[in-house]
Amino acid sequence: MRIAIIGCGYVGLVSGACFSEFGAEVICIDKDKTKITEIKAGKIPIFEPGLDDLIAKNVLAGRLSFSSDLGANVGRADAIFIAVGTPSRRGDGHADLSYVYAAVEEISNYLTSYTVVVTKSTVPVGTGQEVEKIIKKSNSGADCDVVSNPEFLREGSALEDFLRPDRVVIGTNSDRARQLMRELYRPLSLIETPILFTSRQTAEMIKYAANAFLATKITFINEISDLCEKIDADVQDVSKGMGMDGRIGSKFLHPGPGYGGSCFPKDTLALARTAQKAGNPLKIVEAVVSINKNRKLKMAEKVISACDGGIAGKTIAVLGLTFKPNTDDMRESPSLDIVSGLQAAGGLVKAFDPVGMREAEQLLEGVIWCKSAYEAMEEASAMVIITEWNEFRQLDFERAKKLMKSPILVDLRNIYNPSDMLNAGFKYSCLGRTVVSK
Ligand code: NAD
Repeated sequence: MRIAIIGCGYVGLVSGACFSEFGAEVICIDKDKTKITEIKAGKIPIFEPGLDDLIAKNVLAGRLSFSSDLGANVGRADAIFIAVGTPSRRGDGHADLSYVYAAVEEISNYLTSYTVVVTKSTVPVGTGQEVEKIIKKSNSGADCDVVSNPEFLREGSALEDFLRPDRVVIGTNSDRARQLMRELYRPLSLIETPILFTSRQTAEMIKYAANAFLATKITFINEISDLCEKIDADVQDVSKGMGMDGRIGSKFLHPGPGYGGSCFPKDTLALARTAQKAGNPLKIVEAVVSINKNRKLKMAEKVISACDGGIAGKTIAVLGLTFKPNTDDMRESPSLDIVSGLQAAGGLVKAFDPVGMREAEQLLEGVIWCKSAYEAMEEASAMVIITEWNEFRQLDFERAKKLMKSPILVDLRNIYNPSDMLNAGFKYSCLGRTVVSK
């Protein structure tokens, strides 16, 4: 089977590498020529564990290639996957579908034999229909089916998620397209992965509903965490006790500084807008969007209050910038709001992230970039852990105390134990747990 993937971002690169690993002949196409030149030279533009090796292996095997020339490459494909970005549209929060539609227009004229056009990008209900219209308008004779195949991978564990997913969702009413998609995902059927066939609109809806549900779960435990602080309960134990209930499950039930990343913020907002437009507002999702936004802003205040209410002229060490560990993705990361909040209060921010610094430097100004967590701690009046990278889980606090002006730790991921931190001589502040000082 021959596959073309349009868009070499997180989803396009991972899908391309994994489909070629399944045995398909894959060409990944991106309009960004520099990106393609770099990939061809073996430089993978994103940080995703294991991805560079998988790409190298399949390129060597002759199953995977890259190009910026769409015209020369999509005509031969049995299936064309659209994996371009669908960010929030400026001003109104709807999904910006301009990249999807532009890509579809570009491929339309090259559809010369039966082709399945697959939207892998996260797109609102009804987009498949629009894609079909665009193709018919520019190439009325095109023999194709438009299928929805939303992607559920998580950055940081994307390969595992793609190669061993909980399920694959395929939305189409065409038997021919269903047959081709079934064949493409046969390696997953062999390992008993459920393949759920639905209508196209239903598949589009499943993706948004799933993301909104997970964002709601995170927001729920974040609000419970705030309440725990007020009533002297321990959110870690609450979360454990809730998660042991099979109906609830323990995942996505950890308090933090608010969800970020390239998906949850824009997808919750887009779903809320779709629902409003359909005259059926989703009040829960609207509340989640607003609570999460405020939470990120409030986290800077938490650091300020740990410093006895003022940080003007003080240095704050920030450990972790990406929206979660094992990715370099900074999109909508809580660190963006927290760092800006600290700077607005007069603080000087020294920051370190194991892989996200290059991305962060483009989004944050006035920060002193450090080469290690300990360099960030030098002369700091407090440090704040924003991302729970493994290397922050076993900090040397004796060394930290010698480097810092005052031993204050604000742990926005609850990776340390309050009593251990008190024993280490730190003034410790975390989420949803009362810290009793000695
Ligand atoms: P991304 O921004 O990392 O990459 C998109 C790529 O598409 C860019 O390299 C861009 O240059 C390229 N592109 C845009 N228009 C093009 C065109 N006309 N022709 C060729 N290339 C073009 O995006 P991403 O994070 O991979 O997300 C892609 C889609 O997948 C989004 O809809 C997103 O919501 C969804 N998704 C993302 C994740 C994730 O974790 N990142 C997970 C599931 C679903």
